[in-house]
Amino acid sequence: MTNHLFYQSRLPRPDLQKAEGIYMWDTAGKRYIDGSSGAMVSNIGHSNPNVLAAMREQMDKSTFGYRLHFQTEPSEALAARISGLTPEGLDRVFFVSGGSEAVESALKMARQYALTQGEAQRYKVISRYPSYHGATLGALAITGYAPMSAPFDPMMKSMPKIPAPRAYLDGMDADDPATGLHYANMLEEKILEEGPSTVLAFIVEPVGGASTGALVPPAGYMQRIREICDQYGVLLIHDEVMTGGGRTGRFFGAEHWDVAPDLIALSKGFGAGYVPLGAMIARNDMVEAVLDAGGFIHGYTYAGNPLACAAGLAVLEEIERQDLVGNAAAMGDALTDRLQALMQRYPVIGDVRGKGLLLAFELMADRNTKAPLPVDLNAHSRLVDIAYENGLIIYSRRTRGGLSGDHFLVCPPMSVNEPQLDEIAEILERSMQQFMAENPT
Ligand code: PLP
Repeated sequence: MTNHLFYQSRLPRPDLQKAEGIYMWDTAGKRYIDGSSGAMVSNIGHSNPNVLAAMREQMDKSTFGYRLHFQTEPSEALAARISGLTPEGLDRVFFVSGGSEAVESALKMARQYALTQGEAQRYKVISRYPSYHGATLGALAITGYAPMSAPFDPMMKSMPKIPAPRAYLDGMDADDPATGLHYANMLEEKILEEGPSTVLAFIVEPVGGASTGALVPPAGYMQRIREICDQYGVLLIHDEVMTGGGRTGRFFGAEHWDVAPDLIALSKGFGAGYVPLGAMIARNDMVEAVLDAGGFIHGYTYAGNPLACAAGLAVLEEIERQDLVGNAAAMGDALTDRLQALMQRYPVIGDVRGKGLLLAFELMADRNTKAPLPVDLNAHSRLVDIAYENGLIIYSRRTRGGLSGDHFLVCPPMSVNEPQLDEIAEILERSMQQFMAENPT
């Protein structure tokens, strides 16, 4: 094992040998179920033969054409395909290589559009706490997750935040439209506090990702957010990096509420683990205004890479051919049933939530008060380690500060079937038994 390579920590991990469908094998021959699709990325499963064939075919033609020199057929075809899936009027696609880049691009498009409208005083981007929008400094400035942003705070322009609507922690009924209004109106209050003419945009994950553990907005929230943005001339950015591509049971997460944003950030399931790929999708009139004013001052060398776009196109074709969006909805319901059954047996599971196959459960010391488990129990990493030992990969986060506990995302590829869900449920059960044996209450 080399020590030249490093990531966040010294955490040793086995070498990956191969992966197929929802399964992965290390070089020692141990099999794992990819119960989190990596980081909610491998949405169509590993080693899909049609995607691999499309990539090989493209490799024989070209693997790079710099965008200032050439247009490529796969990038044009993919942009056209994506625009067929977006809300009307949101048809312009700017390719990038990942989620942080997609978010950065949306921020810059918003700002440049405001300049074309004579609104140079608009620069503030309101976001939520907790939230995650990326690791680059621009995306981190609007990310509501102190453990990742705190060391860099002095290097970033501090941006305003409102609380994410964690109705379950506040003892509110998420199905009651009054709850949605209560949380959405916090955006209006923040806009008024900041000065409406200074606010450029609001960014929201339609269903929360790792930061909130698959938080589903309360009834009416997304619609009211749209109204408020319209009222104050604030651009609405949907961060669909994790939700886009079908994971929630609709191609875009926001389709559940029938709300169209002004800008969309897309990645993860778009390249589905085959290639680094993302996109920023913008309103047609915004793009025209920015291009008329001299051009979009932004770009990445690898944007629109033909190999990445050919893979992305093949991923979309597989999603449609196998109706993976429909399967995510159906298997999401079936997995929710299994997680709720687990919750019945383990009182330490205080909440099960999510949409489609973007699902999470949260451990709590007390279901009624929602008190989190003690921090030194390190439940978020311990349960993940136990499951990993047992051959199941799940993804966890502890949102420190406030009344939020350890949550675990269970998000297998959208190609998963019922017998495979049974395997996942069986390993989760075994892992919970071990966790409880280590931590008797
Ligand atoms: N936005 C959301 C909602 C995400 O979940 C992530 C990654 O987890 C990002 C942005 C950043 O994406 P990337 O890690 O590809 O830069």
